[in-house]
Amino acid sequence: MPRQTIRKQSEDWELIPNLLDYDAARRNFSWEHERELLDGMPGGGLNIAHEAVDRHAAGDRCEHLALRWLDRSGEATDFSYGDLSRLTNRFANVLRNLGVKKGERVFALSERIPPLYITALGTLKNGSVFCPLFSAFGPEPLHSRLSIGEAKVLVTTESLYRRKVAALRDSLPHLQHVLLVRDSAQEKHPDDTLDFQQLLDAAADEFPVCNTNPEDPALLHFTSGTTGKPKGAIHVHEAVVAHHASARLALDLHPQDVFWCTADPGWVTGTSYGIIAPLTIGATMIVDRQEFEPERWYGILRDHMVSVWYTAPTAVRMMMKHGAELARKFQLPALRFMASVGEPLNPEAVLWGEEAFELPFHDNWWQTETGGIMIANFASMDIRPGSMGKPLPGIEATVVRRREDGSVELIEDADREGELALKRGWPSMFRGYLHEEERYRACFSGDWYLTGDLARRDEDGYFWFVGRADDVIKSSGHLIGPFEVESALMEHPAVAEAAAIGVPDPIAGEVVKAFVSLKPAHQPSEALRTELLALARRRLGPAVAPRQIEIHDNLPRTRSGKIMRRLLKARELGLPEGDTSTLESRE
Ligand code: ATP
Ligand code: MG
Repeated sequence: MPRQTIRKQSEDWELIPNLLDYDAARRNFSWEHERELLDGMPGGGLNIAHEAVDRHAAGDRCEHLALRWLDRSGEATDFSYGDLSRLTNRFANVLRNLGVKKGERVFALSERIPPLYITALGTLKNGSVFCPLFSAFGPEPLHSRLSIGEAKVLVTTESLYRRKVAALRDSLPHLQHVLLVRDSAQEKHPDDTLDFQQLLDAAADEFPVCNTNPEDPALLHFTSGTTGKPKGAIHVHEAVVAHHASARLALDLHPQDVFWCTADPGWVTGTSYGIIAPLTIGATMIVDRQEFEPERWYGILRDHMVSVWYTAPTAVRMMMKHGAELARKFQLPALRFMASVGEPLNPEAVLWGEEAFELPFHDNWWQTETGGIMIANFASMDIRPGSMGKPLPGIEATVVRRREDGSVELIEDADREGELALKRGWPSMFRGYLHEEERYRACFSGDWYLTGDLARRDEDGYFWFVGRADDVIKSSGHLIGPFEVESALMEHPAVAEAAAIGVPDPIAGEVVKAFVSLKPAHQPSEALRTELLALARRRLGPAVAPRQIEIHDNLPRTRSGKIMRRLLKARELGLPEGDTSTLESRE
């Protein structure tokens, strides 16, 4: 992997970064101090929605723009912190009037429209648990999540309900209330449903926010299902301390920022950083109803003066497909920080950011289970493209080897691969997998939470992602991380996406096989395959380079945009495909 460095110079900064000196920030950091930056509730309570909305609405940020929502045509609807406070109070009253109690679960199944955001925050105000569902899920994944999660309330749109939920209703005994957002000219809602807007209009503006204990459950998030059946990760109100701290330190969010997180709230990024974190900072957040379209996205960055942008490798690769020239047509003077999460970000993509926007993408790493960013490339820190960066202040990360007896050996040497582990105890650590206590316990060894990802740490403390433990390829005694192979293939100008898997080999145990998809101007050919094989051998050496490369139109991905290597492998080996509830259908 090329060891380039993108140097950060203090004269480049338009705003002084929140984290200026990494080592000093780590030394001086304490979670207690981070907690003091928030309001809290009387008697040691803590409520996410109070920190996100009401504490600003009660102060001089009441009229500040909290949420700007863009509809299909790009037209904006604005909500100040005061507006959000009133609307979420109303929704909390709706829940209370329906008899929905603290700890009961309120699910949302909706496109990115204002009622989704009102539901999320109003639910938290009522002390109930918010659980978002991705709107493109089919009936089966919806049914399993609603029933595992014992949903008491579902907020959805009329058309999603008719298409996906109505037929399931009889088999969801816990589901007492379905609130529909009108999105068609239908005059009458189906039986057994209530009208979201009517209830909201009839509810009072005032609501005393539930004085939740920091350890009370707040959020239930299902994982992406990349490696198997999705798990339901439980998060508590205390998580807001980490949302706030990581938004300040890793995303460098300031109250005057306009922040755009492109993730959907159906996934943890879209809730932690697409709803909660920017509001706790008092910033303005942009929500776009539509899916990716390059000119629309660049237009949003320009027209709404986005200053901090948080997106994902899959989106970056799609933009790269359309070329840097298109991005450069848009003047983006407000944009000062770009970050990415969700999958490994190839060095090519980091550098492409500079070509297209004159800014690098800052990769960061975390999981549904960690609730917030754990490892990051910080605004003030030199970037090593291809590295996830360094652990946040307050986060202790290391690499370990699991022993047979369940204990772990810490790997102190630089550049040795092992499982990425985090010292337990940060505020947004998940507190359980719903109904899977044993599985939860198996994630820990003593003080360490074992992430299931493999990584190495270099001599300067930067962490490098190797692959998911399940995806690592074992060839002639070497451990090969798919990311390394994929990044080499991504260097070829024709390659849009790449995925590497191990296939059985009588001599080596496994050999690498790669799958690629191409950028629009390129056609599959034997000559191109040979070129790619040669590039990989040159960059990686014969022991690591793929023996075979297949060119596909698209690679299988989760709906949150992650390449599903396990599916490529199952198909290659003729094995059952396993849980495909999160598979994107346009593959
Ligand atoms: P499941 O656990 O159901 O298989 P998932 O792990 O994809 O799904 P998420 O919690 O959404 O579900 O994703 C977290 C995982 O995504 C991480 O464990 C890691 O494998 C990958 N990931 C996230 N960010 C990065 C990154 N910056 N670099 C490399 N991998 C990343
Ligand atoms: Mg996972």
